[in-house]
Amino acid sequence: MYDYNEKAVREQLKCHDSFYLYDERIIKKHINELKEGFKNETIIYSVKNNPNTHVLDTVFSSGIGADAASLAEVYYAYDRGLPKDMIYFSCPGKTIKDIEESIDKAVIIADSINEIKVIQTIAEARNIHVNVGMRINPDFSFFGEGKGSPSKFGVDEDQAIAFIKNNSCSNIIINGIHVHLHSQELSADILSGYHKKMFALARRIQDKSGATLDYINFGSGLGITFAESNKPLNLSAVAASFEAERAEYIKDHPDTRFIIESGRYMSGKAGIYAAKVIDRKVSYGKNFVILKNTLNGFARPSVARMLAAVTGGEEPEIMYEPMYTGRSSFQFLPITDNTETETVTLVGCLCTGTDVIAQDIVMPHLEPGDGIVITNAGAYAAVMTPMQFASLEKPAELFLKEDGTVLS
Ligand SMILES: *Cc1c(COP(=O)(O)O)cnc(C)c1O
Repeated sequence: MYDYNEKAVREQLKCHDSFYLYDERIIKKHINELKEGFKNETIIYSVKNNPNTHVLDTVFSSGIGADAASLAEVYYAYDRGLPKDMIYFSCPGKTIKDIEESIDKAVIIADSINEIKVIQTIAEARNIHVNVGMRINPDFSFFGEGKGSPSKFGVDEDQAIAFIKNNSCSNIIINGIHVHLHSQELSADILSGYHKKMFALARRIQDKSGATLDYINFGSGLGITFAESNKPLNLSAVAASFEAERAEYIKDHPDTRFIIESGRYMSGKAGIYAAKVIDRKVSYGKNFVILKNTLNGFARPSVARMLAAVTGGEEPEIMYEPMYTGRSSFQFLPITDNTETETVTLVGCLCTGTDVIAQDIVMPHLEPGDGIVITNAGAYAAVMTPMQFASLEKPAELFLKEDGTVLS
């Protein structure tokens, strides 16, 4: 059973044709799980997955920092009073403006050697010294024993070591590293294996380059259940293995800070998307239920169906995060008082025939005014949807507080 507040959804369907509802109680529950597991680590929230104002307020007031993927996201955290060492700005292709504006507000994680040189020019002009982190493309793979592979992210491990060793940028101190290779992992063994390789990487970089690393940012990877058949990640097992590695590591490096990033683990299961039934019809014997804003309200269920259509119904084995997780990643829950069932096709109100979210499924008979709730809509949902298509009214983004009030 998907945990959400059906009563609040029914209430909001009276005044909104389509909306997201994020639940403070569930966000806090997941934050507490992370804090309980990673007691000695700094946890930061990947803002890009859901930058809703009330979600950010909840997260940042819980002692969680920010993983910012743009200058705007740096400001979301900075304007809420987060100190510089709780805001990490990591993305490829930062502009000069991005760096000039963020340099005193966030810890910049440089994504390339060129970027470090740009930071050097700015630091030199301001006559300041800057601690900069480096995103590393390590010489190992997330899974198993594989070696490194080409990537647009970060600096290859050997290049990073060579650069730090002979650092010619006199205003730059490289004092931290960041790696993020993979999202949505549900195997505790695989995640723990990755963490082990990260501890070894930090040792290698320090040994070979002479750097002192004040922090190691392990990135994310923490997965959440999508399909009903998914087995939840055993977070306590991941955390216990991490703690064992950390205890060893700090024997040699007692002042290191450890950073864990997460987006979806905090917010993903805390959101639903609701679309109202606007119309229905029978066409050549087939029941169609027409919903408000599907592809243009919450795109990923339509993307999943599109992929099923173009691959002949076979589930592509590869996830394409955060656009595609799997074919059965979303459940469609009817909001109606009718109990008698029928076979229906659920479509949206766009002027394209591909705006279908479910075909020939059995549902209670839905009438205009009823609704459909789509699950797993708290992360990479509203932000990844082409809401401007056909200039339809956009879904509302609502926030259900623990005390039951709803904020828009
Ligand atoms: C998007 C992103 C994350 C968050 O990933 P989740 O799967 O949502 O936890 C973490 N780190 C980096 C660098 C990212 O780009």
